[in-house]
Order: sequence, then structure tokens, then C-alpha cells
Amino acid sequence: MAKARLGHSAAGAGLADNGAMLAQRTLKSITHAVGLGVHSGQKVDLTLRPAPPDTGIVFRRTDLPVPVDIPVTPFAVSDTRMATTISPGGRSGQPTVQTIEHLLSACAGLGLDNLVIDITGEEVPVLDGSAASFVYLLQSAGVVKQEAPKRFLRVLKPVELREGEGATLKWARLEPYHGYRLSFEIEFNHPAVDATGRVVSFDFSEGQYKRDIARARTFGFAKDVEAMRSRGLGLGGSLDNVVVVDDSRVLNADGLRYADEFAKHKILDAIGDLQVLGQPLLAAYSAFKSGHALNNKLLRALLADPSAFETVTFDDEKLAPVGFAQLAPAW
Ligand SMILES: [Zn+2]
Repeated sequence: MAKARLGHSAAGAGLADNGAMLAQRTLKSITHAVGLGVHSGQKVDLTLRPAPPDTGIVFRRTDLPVPVDIPVTPFAVSDTRMATTISPGGRSGQPTVQTIEHLLSACAGLGLDNLVIDITGEEVPVLDGSAASFVYLLQSAGVVKQEAPKRFLRVLKPVELREGEGATLKWARLEPYHGYRLSFEIEFNHPAVDATGRVVSFDFSEGQYKRDIARARTFGFAKDVEAMRSRGLGLGGSLDNVVVVDDSRVLNADGLRYADEFAKHKILDAIGDLQVLGQPLLAAYSAFKSGHALNNKLLRALLADPSAFETVTFDDEKLAPVGFAQLAPAW
């Protein structure tokens, strides 16, 4: 893996100096949440703890006789049906944590690098079905800078994956970009969905994750509910945490939170799916009808080509893309 350092490094430059490096971040204090898993319907306790520099994000199954740590990496992803599930090293037959993507999306939105997440079951609570509850939780705990440079993964050349053709075509792509921008197009051929915005773009240097993306809820189709429940999925889902559409309309009494909430939720999911890298991307992501599986394959394809990326740090945070030093500050 190539390494590059950007900016001018004065000897001993630290957090207190002008031209401070762009630093890793963790939580200021421990915070706690309780809720139901959207698929399992199981009540789960979540405890989010500060962690030292270079820890990354680690889930810890504390309900097992011997607690099991599951560091989040692209290769820990072991199942992508309906949600992103991880296990140690991605191996089957191991303890798992399911539906990590909304919490990881919130971590990306707040620029958090290091966190240990104690969990007492197999699935992260769905809370309100979006990332907004996690953003609130994390901001309430506070975010602090650490004495270590934040490492970005900069994409150096386009990487693209395509699957299917015609009506089944989907694709996802990463391209070089000085910043982090995501564009997503959905196509459900459904009147209630297609009447909303089908294409959404979000640039971390221009928008505000908390305001523009975090509140978009997960969504599902009423006709699929029976089939999902018979497979033991969606057991914790309700109109309190899922936007449900029947053949023609949204069933939730309060309607949508954003005019383009469906496509925005796909951006929210993609941010969470890409956050499993453990390093924020400097790249433009674009996708058509992608999902958890294709997003994970895209990361694996990127990492399989050492000439496609490098790790960079910013000795002077002013040289980072606009807004990254102030990324959704909680202080
Ligand atoms: Zn989602």
C-alpha cells in the first residue's frame, strides 16, 4: 500500500499548533442505547466506548460466555442479504453482528475513527430506521480529537463493478476526487417511489450529513412483509422504523421526511457500507441500483489492486478537502 503525506510538517507539529494536523477522532464519553433489531425483533443493549488511536471500529459481543471482538473491515462482511452482517474475519459459524450499516453511516457522518461497541445480541437496534438516532447518541457523548493523524484512503483510478443486464443491471463505481461525494440512482418501477427524487448526490464538502442524509429511513414494500417474516426477517419492523409502501402509496401517516427519502436512504446505506474500510475515502462514489452486496464487492475490488489507492494524512488540516476539519463538529 502506498503512503503519502500531504502538507508541510513542522517538527513537533501537534494539535495545539497553527496548521494542526487533521486528527483521528473518538467519543468523549461512554454512551448507551437499547432497542429492537429490525430483522431479529430481539431487544439489544448497545454501549459505545471511546477507543485509542488506530483501533478502528470494533464490535464486541458481550452476551457470549467469552466476549468476542469483531473488528470492522471489508473482509469481515459475511452476509449482505437485507443488511450488512459481520463476523470475525468474515468466517461462517462465528458470532455475528447484523445490520451495522446505519450506525457506521452515522460514524462516517461525524468523522469518528475509533470506537468499541459492546452489543448484547446479534443485531444493531434499528431505533427510528435512519441514522439520526445514532447521530444524536454520538453527539450527546461528544467527539474528541486524538494525538494521531487521520488516515484517508485516496482512490487513484476508477474501479467499477457491473452486474446483470437490461432490467437487472446494477453498477457501482469509485473514482478519484479530492473530497467525498456520493451519487445514487434508484429504479423500483413503483409509482409511489418513482414519484420521489430518483437521483441523489451528496458531497461532504458542500452538504451537512446530519441535516441532509441522516434522517432518511429504511423502506420496504407491504407485499414483501409476509415473505420476509416467514424467513425470520423484518420481525422488529413497523411503521415506527420503516417507510412502508403498498402498491400505490406510502402507508406511514406522517409521509416522508425528505421528498427524496428513498434515494437518500440508499446514500445513507452506501456511506455505512463504505465505512467498513476503516478509513474515510477520498473519492467519488456513484451507483445505479447498488446494495450492500455490490458495495462490499466494490471495496474488495479496490483493495485487490494496490495501484488503485493510497493512504494519505494531512499534516495541515487546511489542506484537507473543504469542511473535513469541521466535519459535523459536536463541540
Ligand atoms: Zn438501510
